[in-house]
Amino acid sequence: MLRLPKNINGLSKISKCFNNSIIKSSVHTVNGPLSFNLTSEQKELIETAKKFSREVIIPNAKKWDLNNEYPVEAHKKAHELGFFVAGVPTEYGGLGLSLLDCCLIGEELSYGCTGFSTSMLANELALGPVKLFASEELKKKYLGRNAAESVIAAYAVTEPGTGSNVAGITTKAVKDNDGNFILNGQKMWISNAGQCNWFFVLARTNLDPKAPASKAFTAFVVDRDTPGIIIGRKELNMGQRASDTRGVTFEDVKIPKENIVNAEGNGFKVAMGAFDFSRPIVACGAVGLAQRAFDEATKYSLERKAFGQEISKFQAIQFILADMAINIETARLIYYKAAWEFDQGRRNTYYASIAKCYASDVANKCAADAVQVFGGAGFNSEYPVEKLMRDAKIFHIYEGPEQWTKLFAMEITGNKQSPVDFNDECCQFLTKDSEVSSLVLDYPENFESLELTNVGLSWKVEIPTHYANATSI
Ligand SMILES: Cc1cc2nc3c(=O)[nH]c(=O)nc-3n(C[C@H](O)[C@H](O)[C@H](O)COP(=O)(O)OP(=O)(O)OC[C@H]3O[C@@H](n4cnc5c(N)ncnc54)[C@H](O)[C@@H]3O)c2cc1C
Repeated sequence: MLRLPKNINGLSKISKCFNNSIIKSSVHTVNGPLSFNLTSEQKELIETAKKFSREVIIPNAKKWDLNNEYPVEAHKKAHELGFFVAGVPTEYGGLGLSLLDCCLIGEELSYGCTGFSTSMLANELALGPVKLFASEELKKKYLGRNAAESVIAAYAVTEPGTGSNVAGITTKAVKDNDGNFILNGQKMWISNAGQCNWFFVLARTNLDPKAPASKAFTAFVVDRDTPGIIIGRKELNMGQRASDTRGVTFEDVKIPKENIVNAEGNGFKVAMGAFDFSRPIVACGAVGLAQRAFDEATKYSLERKAFGQEISKFQAIQFILADMAINIETARLIYYKAAWEFDQGRRNTYYASIAKCYASDVANKCAADAVQVFGGAGFNSEYPVEKLMRDAKIFHIYEGPEQWTKLFAMEITGNKQSPVDFNDECCQFLTKDSEVSSLVLDYPENFESLELTNVGLSWKVEIPTHYANATSI
């Protein structure tokens, strides 16, 4: 018996769409076939971001957290340094940095406060699809605007009724007589919603419920000041309170047809195409948080005394710190790899999913261990590690909850090692085993239109494209 993994078609479609549009111009290269040397420019970037983190973020992070405050002034300063358009090509006014470069900056800023860096991540998430898939006019207008002014964008896909299952969204955009669109619906948990200048929005444009995901949705850029946009209150989250999370309602919002990102019906691929570059950015944020937890725990262990000696002298504490260091170094390597693969113009979904998943675990483990090293003080908000533990949890949820990113990695592993052979239109798996006479298809009920054909020793499976919904942000 052979078990067929889920979401095969969605992955291959995204890959095709993505590889055609990749930005290669800003890749930093280092001599030799394999090198862990950072260039002098990259070291400089790290130093600049580190200085910003130490001087602007860390002194204010506790206040932002306690007051559930969005750090407007710090954002302006980050904008002046170009951090919010670091990955935007220079022709649109950005820094034109590679993904790895952006991640190096992201790790340092996240070290200071992941609430702050999540705003940058959410901004990247909105800019990314425009950078990769939009028309030249849209790129010039919106990427150019973000580079010229101190403004940010928001990525509005999740809805109250659906998060992981993106193809379940119900926000609709209906074409009017002039070919423009009228948008109606509700989005939820949208980072930067209260602060943004424009939204990247995914909406259903083909109202036939049987329309495949690959054709049913369209992505738009929607100006924040368009009439009919109602922004909800700033949510009080468990952590990362310096970020701005809100619901957004669209009531008869008119979108000019020029604001379609890519083409009508291509929205699902466009929205999903963002994750290959955004997941390494999430991972670098998680590593920044983990590194902070390690540094705080190490410092405290050298100061705190118990039973007449510094707690750092107890082997049990040393093991905790050693495990933290091991996890941080390995998480850093995998986000480097995920970003580097992207910068080489190669499909990196596998590494990006692993990096996001692994670094999120590492951040949560390191933050919890840091609290442990602090003992009672770790549980108290006067000390820095309690915030880290609250901030860490969201890494398991946004940009693909833990369970989903694991599924992604599993599926692609199947692609590499199992007898399953994937292509764009269907998946064909060669059983190799002549005894195989039946297949167990581990799919939900709505997968009724699956077609199976036995072709000798192989089974040809036509995956209905509407199943390309099995993905998430
Ligand atoms: C602080 C914050 C910021 C956010 N920022 C943004 C943003 O900027 N833009 C945006 O569009 N969205 C954003 N989100 C939304 C976020 O991406 C979603 O919350 C996330 O995708 C999970 O969706 P959900 O909350 O609907 O959970 P659900 O999809 O309801 O999932 C609930 C649980 O079930 C699990 N699950 C669901 N389906 C499966 C399955 N098939 N197999 C196994 N497990 C499954 C999930 O892993 C999860 O543990 C943000 C959320 C938060 C909390």
